[in-house]
Amino acid sequence: MTDKHEVPRTMGQQAGRRSWAEPWKIKMVEPLHMTDRPTRDRAMAEAGYNTFLLRSADVYIDLLTDSGTNAMSDRQWAGMMVGDEAYAGSENFYRLESAVQQYYGYKYIVPTHQGRGAENLLSKTEIKPGQYVPGNMYFTTTRLHQELSGGTFVDVIIDEAHDPTNRAPFKGNIDIGKLDALLKEHGAEKIAYICLAATVNMAGGQPVSMANAKAVHEWGQKHGIKVYMDGTRAVENAFFIQEREPGYANKSIAAILKEFCGRTDGMTMSGKKDALVNIGGWVAVNDRDVFEELRNLVVVFEGLHTYGGLAGRDMEAMAIGITESVTDDHIRARIGQVRYLGGLLEEWGIPMMEPIGGHAIFLDAKRFYPQLKQDEFPAQTLAAQLYLDSGIRSMERGIVSAGRNAKTGDHYRPKLELTRLTIPRRVYTQAHMDVVAESVKAVYEQRESVKGLKMVYEPKYLRFFQARFEPIV
Ligand SMILES: *Cc1c(COP(=O)(O)O)cnc(C)c1O
Repeated sequence: MTDKHEVPRTMGQQAGRRSWAEPWKIKMVEPLHMTDRPTRDRAMAEAGYNTFLLRSADVYIDLLTDSGTNAMSDRQWAGMMVGDEAYAGSENFYRLESAVQQYYGYKYIVPTHQGRGAENLLSKTEIKPGQYVPGNMYFTTTRLHQELSGGTFVDVIIDEAHDPTNRAPFKGNIDIGKLDALLKEHGAEKIAYICLAATVNMAGGQPVSMANAKAVHEWGQKHGIKVYMDGTRAVENAFFIQEREPGYANKSIAAILKEFCGRTDGMTMSGKKDALVNIGGWVAVNDRDVFEELRNLVVVFEGLHTYGGLAGRDMEAMAIGITESVTDDHIRARIGQVRYLGGLLEEWGIPMMEPIGGHAIFLDAKRFYPQLKQDEFPAQTLAAQLYLDSGIRSMERGIVSAGRNAKTGDHYRPKLELTRLTIPRRVYTQAHMDVVAESVKAVYEQRESVKGLKMVYEPKYLRFFQARFEPIV
């Protein structure tokens, strides 16, 4: 499949292949909380119509995020029991280091408590005030750390990524023409590095092709500019390369992942996503000098360079999680479940971001509620309506998440106004996905009577986490 081809619509399964059932069985269960409508009305009002402010006890199926919500395996739990809780030189650190070296391929690893810890260290090390940081669409914490280090984020993703109906196979790709334009305007010394996210969370979990990663890396080498990957979901990205890019169908996920990382100079990682743990992250690089600086800074912000804000047991669980995450069976079932949910919604004509990405279904709130202006927060409204209908928790990824331009004070107005149903790894069953799909359908059927929200409290940083709203009456 080339970039010209469209991704075919599928009903959860890949054409010609048999079912993707999970490569595990359930050993322990956690009871869920069912609530009634009056309870949800009260809980939503108390939470200021922000799903981040709900108590999880009031949530039935929690699709807020796939971050730190993973179910660990029996091996990982066993690994927790061999935590070497030494302040310095923990055995578990060395196992984590060698797992990252083996599967991601970088030379030097600094553990951090989660992804944003890694972003903080890399931004402080590699950005000088006044520099630009081109990236394939912003991510909330990533961009904020770049800005706090004096950098300015520049979006260089291909235009197709901003169109929720475009079915290109690699909508996460970087537009080299946009890099050229930035270089021409400011010069190479004004570009800190290129931030390459794989997959692109805010674009709907859309992948980057190997060919694009190669082209971006070669462009960077030509101009003396490094490429750092946001590798939070790079394993999921490898799955799409295997499925869609010529020459990769018979390569393993592990081999594709390593080749992809080889097209970059380092990475920041939120282990809470692909690495199948509840807490943890790292920053990894190949350059010795950059590593020295990261290792100096980690002591200030996270902890000693052999624990980086993590307990030994957390590092052990993450090392084991990495090895489980890169298996073909795991990732096929993981993305198969996301597609199963997406397939039902596609069949019912629900407007959403297409093609379906790796970790979530992104409902297109603009097409859901054409009667709402963007300042009436359509995606926030949709997240609230879904919760009120069934107790399902989703997340806004639109104007609230985009925040404000620090210089002008106005909202950033993203083209995409999305409500994200994020699927935790190894947590819910196919029957849960049916319940979710039916609730989305019910909310869609009531869409015409819905009015928007007004923001009544706005925090200074990353406002989507704590902002409060009231219904427009
Ligand atoms: C979650 C996430 C991060 C930040 O990681 P945390 O572990 O939440 O701090 C960075 N980039 C992307 C793409 C993410 O999804």
